[in-house]
Amino acid sequence: MCEVWWDDYRFILIDTGGLETKPEGHINERVQEQAEMAVSDADVVVFMTDVTDGLTPTDHLVVDRLRRTFKPVILTVNKVDNESRELSAAEFYQLGFDDPLLISAYHNLGVYQLMERICALLPYPEEPTEEEAEDPAAGALNLAIVGRTNVGKSMMLNSILGEERSIVSPEAGTTRDALDTAFSYDGNDVVLVDTAGIRRRGQVQRGIEQYSVIRAVNAVSRSDITLLVTDATEMATAQDAHIAGLAWDMCRGLVVVVNKWDLARDGDRYAQHRAEARVKTRLHFMPYVPVCFTSALHGQGINVVMRTVLELRQERSRFVPARELQYMLADALASHTPPPVKRRPRERLFISRVRQVGVNPPTFLFTVNSPDLVHFSYQRYLENRIRDTFGFDRTHLRLVFKRQ
Ligand code: GDP
Repeated sequence: MCEVWWDDYRFILIDTGGLETKPEGHINERVQEQAEMAVSDADVVVFMTDVTDGLTPTDHLVVDRLRRTFKPVILTVNKVDNESRELSAAEFYQLGFDDPLLISAYHNLGVYQLMERICALLPYPEEPTEEEAEDPAAGALNLAIVGRTNVGKSMMLNSILGEERSIVSPEAGTTRDALDTAFSYDGNDVVLVDTAGIRRRGQVQRGIEQYSVIRAVNAVSRSDITLLVTDATEMATAQDAHIAGLAWDMCRGLVVVVNKWDLARDGDRYAQHRAEARVKTRLHFMPYVPVCFTSALHGQGINVVMRTVLELRQERSRFVPARELQYMLADALASHTPPPVKRRPRERLFISRVRQVGVNPPTFLFTVNSPDLVHFSYQRYLENRIRDTFGFDRTHLRLVFKRQ
């Protein structure tokens, strides 16, 4: 699953685990459930078949099912990388599509056409409003609440929207979607995205271990900041790490909330430190992530969560003047010159300039002699220098390296 930018289009690509028609075991059933959920949430479906398997009865059945969803479907035949395979691919016309797309994902053949076809089926992207274009941090803060079933999302939602807060009606034009809830928190306009999803899940699917990753991805992608709610009795699971990874990939802000803290057994004064360490071990790729502790049941800790969210937002909207960045760079280069890169020992990385080119997340553009010479560890070093010098403690930072 990833976020894709193609021309002006931005969409989320979900790779399902294959649609089996006769699930034999538990895993298959789950894969199928997720695949079906993905299809039901999708705007466009790419049905991928394999020329080396030939046309199978399963392909027919899957197409039959996909037709019933009335979603636009693009049929692709993969692994077509020579002429004889091109001939074999002809049998896929039997599936009744006008124009199956022959591709070879491995050799990157036909992928461009596939992307063009996908985009042609998507609504034309909206232009950002003038206000958004000028300052993406202006306007309402979009906040998503995600997490597994039963961790307490709907209860948290109610706590956040507690009686004292004024809920803004959607007519005010603050929400983009009828599923969202706009409200004001300490004078800040906040839109909670996909609140209808949280409520519905809370009521209808209670008890069923169903984590709609797809729905969560949608919510994360529409948010500036995501609250990843976990349960004190289980802490961060692999699925939570997966969602956190998506927020990281999409450069969204993330706050981990450990809910049901009232049930935590190890109640001594260091318990929160230990719990925070456990979360951070799991989410090792984002050591800066803020962790908050709540008991939505008792309405405890909610204000700290909201304050953390607002502070994080402020940090993500900060802009560092070019001169200060240039000083930082000179200092960083002086105390640790870029080491030679393996296999290109005679070449050296030169960084001539750095400036901040964006916010939310703060984005820094380094002008270099050759972007290939930037080693991962040196990039991390520069990121840490920026963090330490300018006090970016809790947000994702984006570093971009461009040739002179
Ligand atoms: P959701 O599926 O994530 O929306 O979870 P719900 O908000 O529906 O809560 C699931 C269950 O956990 C309910 O029975 C709640 O009463 C309970 N719950 C939620 N928050 C807390 C909490 O902070 N402490 C305790 N002890 N129980 C909670």
